[in-house]
Amino acid sequence: MNAPLPLDRRAAKPSQRIKSATGDWEMVIGLEVHAQVNSNSKLFSGASTHFGNAPNSNVSLVDAAMPGMLPVINVECVKQAIRTGLGLKAQINRRSVFDRKNYFYPDLPQGYQISQYKSPIVGEGEILIDMPDETITIGIERLHLEQDAGKSIHDLSPSFSYVDLNRSGVALMEIVSRPDLRSADEAKAYVSKLRTILRYLGTCDGDMEKGNLRADVNVSVRRPGAPFGTRCEIKNVNSIRFIGQAIEYEARRQIGILEDGGEIIQETRLFDHGKGETRSMRSKEEAHDYRYFPDPDLLPLEFSAEFVEELKSHLPELPDEKKARFIEQYGVTPYDAMVLTLERESADFFEAVARGRDAKIAANWVINELFGRLNKEGLEVTASPMSADQLGGIVDLIKDGTISGKLAKDLFEIVWAEGGNPREIVEARGMKQVTDTGAIEAACDAVIAANPDKVEQVKVKPTMLGWFVGQVMKQTGGKASPPAVNEILKAKLGIE
Ligand code: ADP
Ligand code: MG
Repeated sequence: MNAPLPLDRRAAKPSQRIKSATGDWEMVIGLEVHAQVNSNSKLFSGASTHFGNAPNSNVSLVDAAMPGMLPVINVECVKQAIRTGLGLKAQINRRSVFDRKNYFYPDLPQGYQISQYKSPIVGEGEILIDMPDETITIGIERLHLEQDAGKSIHDLSPSFSYVDLNRSGVALMEIVSRPDLRSADEAKAYVSKLRTILRYLGTCDGDMEKGNLRADVNVSVRRPGAPFGTRCEIKNVNSIRFIGQAIEYEARRQIGILEDGGEIIQETRLFDHGKGETRSMRSKEEAHDYRYFPDPDLLPLEFSAEFVEELKSHLPELPDEKKARFIEQYGVTPYDAMVLTLERESADFFEAVARGRDAKIAANWVINELFGRLNKEGLEVTASPMSADQLGGIVDLIKDGTISGKLAKDLFEIVWAEGGNPREIVEARGMKQVTDTGAIEAACDAVIAANPDKVEQVKVKPTMLGWFVGQVMKQTGGKASPPAVNEILKAKLGIE
């Protein structure tokens, strides 16, 4: 079969071009992401998919390719693929075919991988990605189901190699993008967004460290306006940062060859993250090398429109929809809405804080204080020591003027470290903001009296007022209300 012609539908922006003495270049990138399906058992057997079990303990006779064993499709994996297709706004093919992709490797006991070639379960779809100044649409070419292989281990002893078949037969979704990406940043944003969507759907954990999401990265370069160049495929890149590094390195390597009058040879390469380089692994294999043919042990996969509708009716709210709703319902900025919806759990946390409260203050405290702190301590939002109720309590105290921003930060620290009810802590420790103008006036007078030189300066340089406000805040232990301090100081110093 001829692969469908890639649609050349995006030109790189001038800022995305790579400058060179001989003129500009642009990158063209397409990704094939392998996502491990979230399911208890394998694609064609009942063996467990649990990660971290003893080697070869999750292996059924099917996974070990014992003679005469027949594969039986796991309907849960099919549902997960359909859910993912729906989440990618893609065409769901109610008839698809499993094919054998034949090759030899010690960790592939069948001698072939069961995959889908001509007729995948999911066709064309799309993903929206948020770049700093625009939202772009990246085309999805297809999504198909296939089996993972086992794992060869070569480094336990100098003279033996081992094979662990626990992963053999685990379901993967291969999600193939159109060659629509034009920079390493776009490619990284694409993988992050895809991972977010998969996690919302619950169809893949997206844990790149465990290898359950990995990408084959196709890169080519061309002069602006020229047709696509020859691509190289970098196999199995397993972190978003490495995807970016591999693309940057590979594009420059290709430009170097072309500028020297050379030619790019289509090949499969590996990324060495220690050296930050890609290196050749093998010349590109062609589909016919694999002798694809429909697997005679499996009937074509067919399901009804109702089956798809039923799954569709239970899909969760997806990140783009949630983001739009947050902007509309809570009046937060598009950027804040994007940050808040990166993970379903973070979005839920925010909503629990914002419900019935000032949503803008809530968004500010969730993003800047809470997420910032969780990040610093390497914690997931689900492991937050501060509950949504507690943070909501702090937001209430800010909103009703009981505490200033400065005191709120102190209070945040206390609640983070010691727990407790924010309002009770404020009462017990006398952290209330001083709005009593008499007390503030006294503090202002003291600061003015102690700094006659600064008083002269502020009269010619009104921006010095900030210094006075700072001193008064210090004097009052951060309890004075800053707007009140400002007003009183201006009056006393006679500045506008
Ligand atoms: P194969 O299965 O042989 O790797 P495909 O035609 O399925 O080939 O393409 C694989 C990936 O390569 C897709 O993600 C596609 O977007 C990308 N791709 C195709 N042509 C180019 C190109 N000229 N430059 C960069 N990526 C490309
Ligand atoms: Mg490929």
